[in-house]
Amino acid sequence: MAILQIRTDGDPILHKKSREVEVFDEKLKRTIDDMYETMYDAEGVGLAAVQVGKLKRLIVIDDYEGTKIVLINPEVLEEAGESEALEGCLSVPERVGKVKRFETIKIKYRDPEGEEKTLEAEGFLARIIQHEMDHLEGILYTDIAEEMYTVNDREEAESEA
Ligand code: ZN
Repeated sequence: MAILQIRTDGDPILHKKSREVEVFDEKLKRTIDDMYETMYDAEGVGLAAVQVGKLKRLIVIDDYEGTKIVLINPEVLEEAGESEALEGCLSVPERVGKVKRFETIKIKYRDPEGEEKTLEAEGFLARIIQHEMDHLEGILYTDIAEEMYTVNDREEAESEA
């Protein structure tokens, strides 16, 4: 396993669209292991492959509330409700922003074996999934945030929310 370099805001790759994963092999599993190691090292809850320089529709997530999941080629089936909260991103250090997301989401995706699965999520997990799926389209949350703050402003922002 290896810790990969996380691309940060200003790197043009972050605004590129990722391509479908077509081969479900050992190399893919090694990439997934490396992405988890990189995400845990950076203390993140999600990481898209583009953030480590790979334009693949591949996401790793651990919400630290019991859901550790790999999403490959995810597609939205349903989305509903509305939620507004602060969000951060490993590719945008030292900043947070207020972002509107759907409260619940239903997706289909493939697991590392290539099996098609569906997942329904709400709240924090739904937010992570939407944030990471935006990365696959080349969208950063800073592109859609209603307001941005530095981490130092964060306490103030939270007390307003
Ligand atoms: Zn992100």
